[in-house]
Amino acid sequence: MPVCAHCGSVWKYKEAVKHAFRTKMICPSCYADNYHTLSGCGKAAIFPLSMILYNYLIYMSPDTSLPRMMAGTAGIGAAAFFLLPFTVELTKKQGHIW
Ligand SMILES: [Zn+2]
Repeated sequence: MPVCAHCGSVWKYKEAVKHAFRTKMICPSCYADNYHTLSGCGKAAIFPLSMILYNYLIYMSPDTSLPRMMAGTAGIGAAAFFLLPFTVELTKKQGHIW
């Protein structure tokens, strides 16, 4: 779970989900601005990369089917939504991602 870079409070899952898709996240305890770290963004990148890899492997398999690709992609997307808060790491200053 994310830990506030200012006060050190550990965010609850619901708070992390609410803020995980934003660039600037406000701590519910001290109301200070927090930003994503580059390493946290790298960890979150595993989800779209796994979607691409899954679809590539299904596409290359002999029994390719569109429903299988769509079901797998939806499953990975749902897993990404629920697991994304565990990849969030916070810092005090907004850095450049690229
Ligand atoms: Zn805080």
